[in-house]
Amino acid sequence: MDKEKEEKFEFQSEVKQLLDILVYSLYKNKDVFLRELISNASDALNKVQFEILTAGDSEEKDQELKITIAIDKPHNKISVEDNGIGMSKDELIGNIGTIAHSGTLDYLKKIAATPTKNQVDLIGKFGVGFYSSFMVAKEIHITSKAWAKDSPAWLWKSKGESSYTIEASDKKTRGTRIELFLKKEEKEFLEAYKLKSIILKHSKFVPFAIYLDGEKIARKEAIWTQPKSKLEEKDYFEFYKFLENTQEDPETYLHLSSDAPVQFTALLFVPKTSFELLGLMKAEPGVDLYSKKILIQKGSK
Ligand code: ADP
Repeated sequence: MDKEKEEKFEFQSEVKQLLDILVYSLYKNKDVFLRELISNASDALNKVQFEILTAGDSEEKDQELKITIAIDKPHNKISVEDNGIGMSKDELIGNIGTIAHSGTLDYLKKIAATPTKNQVDLIGKFGVGFYSSFMVAKEIHITSKAWAKDSPAWLWKSKGESSYTIEASDKKTRGTRIELFLKKEEKEFLEAYKLKSIILKHSKFVPFAIYLDGEKIARKEAIWTQPKSKLEEKDYFEFYKFLENTQEDPETYLHLSSDAPVQFTALLFVPKTSFELLGLMKAEPGVDLYSKKILIQKGSK
């Protein structure tokens, strides 16, 4: 194959500032990088699922839609791969090298300057989630092939400084592979149990299969997104037991939805037993907040 040489591009100037904020001041909780990569992969799978359904015939129609995470200890590397919609060269430049929403940078500067308990969890909302990977990686490679037949594949590389490069790749299958070359001090993310615990905490309701080093991670239907008429009491009870890791049914539950002024669905459970009354742990009341089936704010312990 006639390989084009790599081309060098500068990040939009806001991106450089954004990287500094993300890497040095905003995040206290580095785990969120994996949540963001899985969330992007899940969006990409959703998009290709739609294309396959509407376009009908795709060579790769019968593939399982999945997210594959692999650890490569000898190379200090983890990779997150999806067989989703993929990105063309223009999309790599437009989506990854620029900040989509004007005002994002100003807003993030403001929240970085006024620390609050929950600031970390705002990140996915601004269309900058990908960059959080630079908290743990000294270099990132993105290899991507857009889903349309005969699309060429591309390799994007950056050290998170002011520039990135793009060159042709020989990836044969559609989708995106993100490789993180970890910083020396972030080796804990080379441990499967660490990645698994992050996935189970934030991404267990992602509607596609997730594999970690070949093992399929158990996922759960986000039952709150299903119509009440389709659910029975036992579905709620089973869900509660999964969530709370308990054998005991809840005392009662409430499932409510609203469309205006904001669209939300809530599922509230009242436990049968109060551990506080038993003199065990003090529990703070709270509600876990999920956006698009991804945990963005933990309300209870
Ligand atoms: P957000 O996902 O919130 O828009 P990101 O910075 O995380 O912001 O990603 C920017 C864009 O890059 C996404 O909106 C999407 O268009 C593209 N992108 C990121 N990851 C993937 C992926 N795995 N597959 C396809 N496109 C992706």
